[in-house]
Amino acid sequence: MEKPLGIPNLSFDEPLIFELGSEGRTAITWPDDDISESDLSSSLPPGVIRDSIEDFPQVSQVELVRHFTRISQWNYGVDSGLYPLGSCTMKYNPKVNEDAARLEGFSYIHPLQPDQLSQGALTVLYELKRWLCAITGMDSATLQPAAGAHGELTGMMIIKAYFTEKGEKRTKIIIPDTAHGTNPSSVSMCGFNVIPVKSGRYGLLETADVARLMDEEVAAIMITNPNTLGIFECNIREISEIVHGSGGFVYCDGANLNALMGRVRFGDIGVDLVHMNLHKTFSTPHGGGGPGAGPLAVKQQLAPYLPVPVVEKNDGEYSFNYDLPKSIGKVRSFYGNFLICVRAYAYILAMGTEGLKRASTTAVVNANYIRAALKSHYHLPFETPCLHESVFTDKRQQKQGITTLDIAKRLIDYGFHPPTIYFPLVVHGALMIEPTETESKHSLDQFIAAMVWIAEEVEKNPHVLREAPGKSKITRVDEVTAARKPVLKWSRNLV
Ligand SMILES: *Cc1c(COP(=O)(O)O)cnc(C)c1O
Repeated sequence: MEKPLGIPNLSFDEPLIFELGSEGRTAITWPDDDISESDLSSSLPPGVIRDSIEDFPQVSQVELVRHFTRISQWNYGVDSGLYPLGSCTMKYNPKVNEDAARLEGFSYIHPLQPDQLSQGALTVLYELKRWLCAITGMDSATLQPAAGAHGELTGMMIIKAYFTEKGEKRTKIIIPDTAHGTNPSSVSMCGFNVIPVKSGRYGLLETADVARLMDEEVAAIMITNPNTLGIFECNIREISEIVHGSGGFVYCDGANLNALMGRVRFGDIGVDLVHMNLHKTFSTPHGGGGPGAGPLAVKQQLAPYLPVPVVEKNDGEYSFNYDLPKSIGKVRSFYGNFLICVRAYAYILAMGTEGLKRASTTAVVNANYIRAALKSHYHLPFETPCLHESVFTDKRQQKQGITTLDIAKRLIDYGFHPPTIYFPLVVHGALMIEPTETESKHSLDQFIAAMVWIAEEVEKNPHVLREAPGKSKITRVDEVTAARKPVLKWSRNLV
């Protein structure tokens, strides 16, 4: 096998800007001024006048540009190479959707501009809502939640409002151990109790286990589908029947819709509420904390409880309707993260029905390609074929004392961003890889080559893994100390 080559050594040595330049250099040369100098202290209070900065860097324009360009290149993003985080869909997003979001009509619109003068923006919101309903098989939706977890919270608030109005006291939400970690948090924040249920032998939720837990106190079941093992919960239809039979709702965490769009409609398999992550599936670059959007789609029965305002179309005119007496109120200022919605609208419009279907199909094929190529080198905890992501473990490498962390760190030396590690928690030493549909076979093969190379190193030369990464600016850090006592100012002395 040839030595793999990703995008290594992106971080070259870079001095601090204070160490660059010399006295008198300047990035801009101003014309001589013809105004006489005056003393600032005669016109400003002393508290607002800045002292001169010691050693203020003096650099030429090109030095300035190169310095910041080089620093920007220390960052590893999907524009630099494959970014295989699991459960996060770090796919490449077409740049044209960024252009759409920057169109002045969208980016400069004022949120209080009257409906009659905002017909274009309202069309985007209305059409996007309808398309998301069509994709998920639901009846109505809100675009207000600012993130996936926020969509979950909104869904739980709606369920609570529904039962409160009906005068039913339901306090429990069933959550499988393969659900995303945000699910139990959202449930607790709404004052419900979490009833955990273990997944079965194949990494799937078993119908009988749900039936055993179901009673009149259960408000809903909250299922992540595909679950955090990257497996489709195929018993969901029977489970829905059982839950509905006792008057409960089925909530689906559809954050990873990238595996299902155009293939499965949640509304067809008994789901009553589902949130999506526009920043995962529908073309918003993400990472670094947002902004994002986690729209929530619901069945007709729950539509009256959606946050206000809802966008409507009457006689060809679009408008916001604030008059929903049963609404849970607002969950976000104004209408949510509007420009994220514009990106999603542009993406869906460009992809079309067939394009979306092809994207999810390719995402699943790519994940299974990696799964098949690596399964003779890394242990697979479940034999079930995966959807958009595949979970391996370090079970084999542990015989040499090598862990998931060592493998992830070694990938950096071969120029790849490590995948998600130690998640999901139900798998010991998990390595969770989601290549997404935007990677070519060539780049998948390069990643596979790096993983295979590392597996061979574990056998022949395990100590290099314990010291990895060896080629990055910062090598192995004490992660606990790094988190508790972060040193935020980089200095050469640290390296
Ligand atoms: C990412 C994710 C979430 C949380 O989404 P945020 O936008 O980060 O709040 C919830 N559930 C699943 C399955 C996810 O993958």
